[in-house]
Formats: sequence, structure tokens, C-alpha cells
Amino acid sequence: VVRIEGVHKYFGDQHVLRGIDMTIGQGEVSVVIGPSGSGKSTLLRCVNMLETATAGRIYVDGELMGYVEKHGRLHHLPVREIARQRRNIGMVFQRFNLFGHKTAMENVMEAPIQVKGQPRAVARARALELLDRVGLSERANHYPAQLSGGQQQRVAIARALAMDPELMLFDEPTSALDPELVGDVLNVMKDLARDGMTMMVVTHEIGFAREVGDTLTFMDGGVVVESGPPREVIANPQQERTRAFLGKVL
Ligand code: ATP
Ligand code: MG
Repeated sequence: VVRIEGVHKYFGDQHVLRGIDMTIGQGEVSVVIGPSGSGKSTLLRCVNMLETATAGRIYVDGELMGYVEKHGRLHHLPVREIARQRRNIGMVFQRFNLFGHKTAMENVMEAPIQVKGQPRAVARARALELLDRVGLSERANHYPAQLSGGQQQRVAIARALAMDPELMLFDEPTSALDPELVGDVLNVMKDLARDGMTMMVVTHEIGFAREVGDTLTFMDGGVVVESGPPREVIANPQQERTRAFLGKVL
């Protein structure tokens, strides 16, 4: 379960997130849409602490991210505790940022070995299983340059899953892909959702939102304008801004 409570983010004097509240239940898929610059990426980055929220609280599985509360006051967690919290959260970006000098398999094995200290053989077996799950067992020994964008993105998903995250964040995972490669990546995400992964997904794939999402949230100008069951929000948006945006992406 993810709880986002009153989150604000400033970059200098630019007020990018203006009081975001959001809850994602265990095993739910929360899809976030909104125009460029509305703060979607910043919100995801605050959840996994790539950015520090200026105000507000984020809980993942009941744990307050980045802080510990003692006698009603918040204290920063030590770096190693923050690293532990971050390990529970997998993130997939728009640009597949794989290690170019490592094969698909080595990319997936890297974190379990380096961070969790897994024996190579264990990490290798698990990596093969994960590559199989994303439909790439035959490409295990290919380098990123030898893979299509969609294949690279599926390796990136397998790599995130290798750390057994409680929560997966996706930031426009298909928007840099050629149209014919989008479906494979969305199917992997669909399978993941079906297997009960808790997911927060920024995407403009409205079909995915409708089919897979439990909640669809429309953000604009750093606030949640509207949120609800995807079918309802899409068919019958309550806010004019939502209607205008959907008109552009549908
Ligand atoms: P897009 O759809 O284009 O990805 P977005 O909704 O993800 O947009 P963000 O990337 O969260 O938007 O950016 C929100 C605002 O915050 C933008 O005005 C952006 O310029 C600003 N911003 C984001 N990151 C930083 C940063 N590291 N430093 C300063 N400003 C930033
Ligand atoms: Mg973004």
C-alpha cells in the first residue's frame, strides 16, 4: 500500500507539486496522466526518493519514506536505511538505461549480486527466470545495442523485478518506443499487474489505463484534478481540464 499525503515539491521558487494526496492499495495499478510539466515524473521520483519532497509524507507498506518519527518529530533516516527503503521500489524510465557493456542477463544479475550479495549462480538462475517472464530468454546473452527498444525496456523491467520490489514505478515506459513495440511492453506490465504487483504508472496509453488500471488520476499544474475508476474518468470526466486533455490523447 502506498499513501501519499499532502506532498509538495519546490525546485527553487517553482512550486511543482502543490499538495498531492493519493492512495494505492496492495496489488492495485494506479495510472497517472497529465500534460507535460504537470509534475508526474517529479511525483514518482519523490515516491522512490530520487527527489526529496519539500513537504508532506509518503508511506510505502506503512513505512514513512526517508524519515523516522520520534515523539511527534521527523528525523532524517540514515543513508543506509534510505537505501534499504529504495530497494523495495523498482523503477522503469522512459529511456531504457541499461548498462551498455553488459548483456541482458548481466544487467538483470547486477543488483542482486552487488546490492544483495547473492551468489552468481542464484542470481543467474533468477535472471533467466525473469528474462523468460518478459519473453526474452533467447536474448539473454545479447547486449543492449543488439536489442530493439521494446526488448531493452523489457530487460529493464526484468532488472527492476530482480530486486523483488513491493512496488513498481513506471515513468512513460513506452513513449520512446516505435509503435509496433509498445504492445509487448504493455503486455509484460499487464502480466505483472495480473500477478498482483502494486504499480504506479505514468502513461498516455489510455487503453492500458482502461483495461489494467484500478485508478486513473489526472494531474495538471502540480495538483490532482480528478481521480477515479478509469472507465468512469474516461467516459465521463467531471472536470473541464480532464475532458480537454483526454480529447487530445484519445
Ligand atoms: P512530462 O510529461 O514532460 O514528462 P511531467 O509531468 O513529468 O512532464 P515533471 O518532469 O515532473 O513533469 O516536471 C514538472 C516541472 O518541474 C517542470 O516545470 C520541470 O521543468 C520542473 N523540474 C523537474 N525536474 C526539475 C529539476 N531537477 N530541477 C528544476 N526543475 C525541475
Ligand atoms: Mg515526466
